[in-house]
Amino acid sequence: MKTIGLIGGMSWESTATYYRYINEAVRDHLGGLASADVILNSLDFSNVVALQTADRWDEAGVLLGTAGAGLARAGADCVLICTNTMHLVADKVARMSGVPLIDIIDETAAALKADGRSRPLLLATRYTMEQGFYTRRMAAHGIDVLIPEADDRARVHGIIFNELCQGIIQDQSRSLLHEIIAASAERGADSVILGCTEIQLLIDAGELALPGYDSTAIHAAAAVRFALSGGKDEACRAAAERV
Ligand code: GLU
Repeated sequence: MKTIGLIGGMSWESTATYYRYINEAVRDHLGGLASADVILNSLDFSNVVALQTADRWDEAGVLLGTAGAGLARAGADCVLICTNTMHLVADKVARMSGVPLIDIIDETAAALKADGRSRPLLLATRYTMEQGFYTRRMAAHGIDVLIPEADDRARVHGIIFNELCQGIIQDQSRSLLHEIIAASAERGADSVILGCTEIQLLIDAGELALPGYDSTAIHAAAAVRFALSGGKDEACRAAAERV
């Protein structure tokens, strides 16, 4: 089995989910007491948020790239940036890490395409919804992402940082996301991307008015496929095909 490197802590609430999903998938596929070979560098999220709000993305890229290089030196065979937002600096992180970066946008696009979806609503941070890096990369995969109206974007961003990243789960926020999803169906959305790794803490991708795509689950599954592929034994290879 290959070693998975996680650049996490953004926030740790969702990194905990990654750790659980990755280990559950390895146990499901290899059975018994098997668990994933994982190295985690969990950053202090307050430092990352300070750089985001100051628009200092280059420095944020160096911070995450340094973490990725450290994971590679420690033996990671791949790295994952455990947040959609910080894929804004994915190119720099991939270059500095020097091992394959499993990209959350590419993996989410592949999951949508496999189901024939082409017009998903994106629920994410303001950075992911508005800065163009996400929608452009999706467009390169032939996916035309729909974003919520401006006031809804501000509300979703607030729910992510003021609630979910701080472990606060509120029914009224859940209802708001359901309302935004229902409205997007009228604007032509054929699916919804939970494009922030904490949103799965609030709503279940399988219980929405539109087919839901949970970026955390999709990204974690891609890591497990990578880890099990090319493994030394036949069990790993066969398992990788089933993840
Ligand atoms: N985890 C979130 C995401 O997937 C937001 C936290 C961050 O700003 O990195 O975008």
